[in-house]
Parts: sequence; C-alpha cells; structure tokens
Amino acid sequence: MLPRYRNILVALLGLFVLAFVGLVVLFHERADSYAVGEARKQALNTLLVHRATHAYVTKTQRPEIYRLQGEGKLYPDYFSPQVMSFTFISRSIKDLLNEERQKNAMEPIYFKLASANPRNPLNQADPREVDLLRRMNANEIKEYEEVVEVAGQKWLYLAVPIDRATPGCMKCHGEPANAPAELVAMYGDKAGFHERLNEIRALISIRAPLAGIKQAGDQMAHTLTLVTLVTLSSIYLVLAFLIRQIDGQQRRIQQHNDELAQLSMTDMLTGALNRYGLKQRSDEIMSRADRFHHPVSLLMLDLDNFKRINDQLGHPAGDAVLKCFSEIVHANLRGSDIFGRWGGEEFLVIAPHLNLGEAMKMAEKLREAIAEAEFDNGIHLTVSIGVSEYFLGETAAALIDRADRALYAAKAAGRNRVVSEAGKPRG
Ligand code: GH3
Ligand code: MG
Ligand code: MG
Repeated sequence: MLPRYRNILVALLGLFVLAFVGLVVLFHERADSYAVGEARKQALNTLLVHRATHAYVTKTQRPEIYRLQGEGKLYPDYFSPQVMSFTFISRSIKDLLNEERQKNAMEPIYFKLASANPRNPLNQADPREVDLLRRMNANEIKEYEEVVEVAGQKWLYLAVPIDRATPGCMKCHGEPANAPAELVAMYGDKAGFHERLNEIRALISIRAPLAGIKQAGDQMAHTLTLVTLVTLSSIYLVLAFLIRQIDGQQRRIQQHNDELAQLSMTDMLTGALNRYGLKQRSDEIMSRADRFHHPVSLLMLDLDNFKRINDQLGHPAGDAVLKCFSEIVHANLRGSDIFGRWGGEEFLVIAPHLNLGEAMKMAEKLREAIAEAEFDNGIHLTVSIGVSEYFLGETAAALIDRADRALYAAKAAGRNRVVSEAGKPRG
C-alpha cells in the first residue's frame, strides 16, 4: 500500500476512535443527567403532593374544625394530629404511597419533614439537616440538591424549606399557653413550641432513587454505543475498502508510468539506453561529479565499416550484429557504468570514477573484446573508440563533442583503435 493511503487509513482510524470515545462519553453523561432529571421530577412531585396536603389541611380541614369548635359542636381544646397536623398527615400519606409503590415494584421515596425542635421525635433533624436549616435561615441557600450514596445505592437528595412561620402557625408553635390544652397534654410544653414568627422552622428532605432510572439510562447508552460502534465500523470498513481500491489503481498507474519512463529511455533494438536515457543519466552523473569532485570519463564507440554488413547481408543481419555488439559491451562494463545507443551504430559509455588513463584502458579492453568476438554468420568486426574526461563545469554536449573528435581521429588513423581527447586539465 502506498504510504499516503496508509497514513490516510491510520488518520481515519484515529479520527473514528476519537469520535467513538467522545460519543460514548456523551451518551453516558446524557444518561446520568437524564437519571438526575427524572429523579428530580419524582422528588418535585412528592414535594407538590406535600404542599397540596398542607394547603388542604390549613385551608379546609382546620377551619372546619375551628368552625365546629366555634359552634360548640366540638369542645374548644380538641386537638388530634390525625386531622389537624399536616406534618402527621403528610408522613402518613408518604408511608401509604410507599406501600403502593412497593406493590408496584417501585423503589420507595424517602420523605421527611425535619425540624430542630419537632413535635414528634420522628421528625428530629439530623446534623446535616440542622446545618441546612441554619444556612436557609441565614439566606445562604434557598434549597439544596446533591447526589448521595446511601446503602450502596445512588439517590438524588433534595432539601426544600417549608414556608416561614406565619401568625397562623404561632397558635400551635408559639407559646404553649395559647395552644389547645390537648396539644400541650399530648406533647408537653417544649416540643414544637417557642418558634419565632418568620422563621424557617423545618425543611422537607426528599431522597428519590436514582438506581432504577440510571439503569434504564445506562441501557439506552449501551444500545447507542453498540449502534455507534457498528455504524462507525461499517463506515470505516467501506472507506478502507474504497481507499484500498484507489490505492490499487494508483499503484497500477504508478507501475505503468514507471514502465513508460523506462521505455522512453530504452533503445528498442539493443535494450541499452537511448539518447534521451543517456541524457538523463549523464546529467545525474555529472552533477554528482561536480558535487563530490570525482572523475568521469566518456567513451564514444562506432563500429567500423558497418555499412558493409548491411550491404552484404541485409539490414536484419545488421540489426542482429548491433544487438550482439551491445551484449558484449554490456558484459564488459561495471555496474556503475552507463551504456547507451547514441544513434545508428554509435554508442556511448559513461564511466563514473574513471580518469582518462583508466578510461583508455577500459576502452582498449572493449576494443579487444569486439575484435576477438565472432558474430552471427561468422562476421568479425572492429570498433573505433574516442575517449574524453569530464572537467568541472563542462557541459555534457562539450564532453561528447570532444569524444566525437577523438573518435574521428581514431577513424582517420585507420580504425580499430582508441584515441583520447584530453580537454582542459582537471582542477
Ligand atoms: P565507419 O567505419 O566510417 O563508421 O563506416 P560505417 O559504414 O560504419 O559508417 P556509416 O556512417 O557510413 O554507416 C553507418 C551505417 O549504419 C549506415 C546505416 O545503414 C547503418 N545503420 C544505422 N542504424 C542502423 C540500424 O538500426 N540497423 C541496421 N541494420 N543498420 C543501421
Ligand atoms: Mg557512424
Ligand atoms: Mg561506423
């Protein structure tokens, strides 16, 4: 796989994992806040039931009893918590409600009217409630909400003050002398008395269960997590498949391009580099020689009297000779040497790291190899070679031109020989 596609796949995977983790965290946070919201609704409902009870007791029930007392149908000191104390009634309704909840497999809702000096010891505020009452009376907080853990289970705890004491409250909660005699007889003259007008004398503590709702929320979060995992994985797999396809196509195109590039530099008959290929490679070699200051030499080879072969044996025989000639030269070169067809029956060898003297020896070796070889049809051939050494900053054309002049000199001197063109001295 091409590196850029591998990187895209890895980056996409990272992105998808991040998105998945982010969404999972979001789902669970939403599930938690949903559970708290639902528990708050339950707590609020309990509070509203209490307020309605309170309103009914104070606005309907008590006035009715006072009326009966006023009409003399009830004796003046009559007092019964069952019908006159909204605290008592609220607590009783709460117990009945929890019984009904239990029958319906619902968790109970904890409810308490807590006071620092309650009439009924059941309503005694615990230290935390006493502190909350103090803060409410000091106007530090209006109400209080917290997720608490009780008996290994999570609950939403809510504390709301009851209304500040009004003159109506003072009849039973002010001075014992003003209260119904039966009330004092029942609870004594301390519990629930001596309260001050405008004081918050009690708060309502409600604890609604979170576990059940949270479980439902968590289940929903798990389902969403699974759906997200499947969706993201599917999208990723489809994208990965498409990217692999594109990668395959790209690699095939790349391969074709490489083959085309190779073809564009190759001579079809001999398989050696063509003129374009020689140009590409000589540019590389010369710029490296410029950078690292090492010698480079060039050999120009031209078959002697080649035209005769064509004339006597035909063009295909000439072609076969050119092929065979290339193979022999190639077999006598080093891996770092560059060999190509300059045109017709002329060839170039570029020899990096060889100075003129070394290149002359190499040329001589090649000349001998050709002279000794027997080509198809018993043909014997010779080759003339012009040699030049590159000097710093010289153009490839100038270097070739000097080798060509040396070749011309070799031909003029009778062929089948190696001649050098010294050029400028290396510096
Ligand atoms: P010299 O020793 O002076 O180089 O003589 P020569 O006959 O080799 O030189 P000349 O330039 O007169 O002829 C070269 C011949 O090479 C002419 C051409 O027909 C032949 N030739 C060039 N390219 C090809 C080719 O691809 N295949 C064949 N068979 N012959 C070719
Ligand atoms: Mg020629
Ligand atoms: Mg020739």
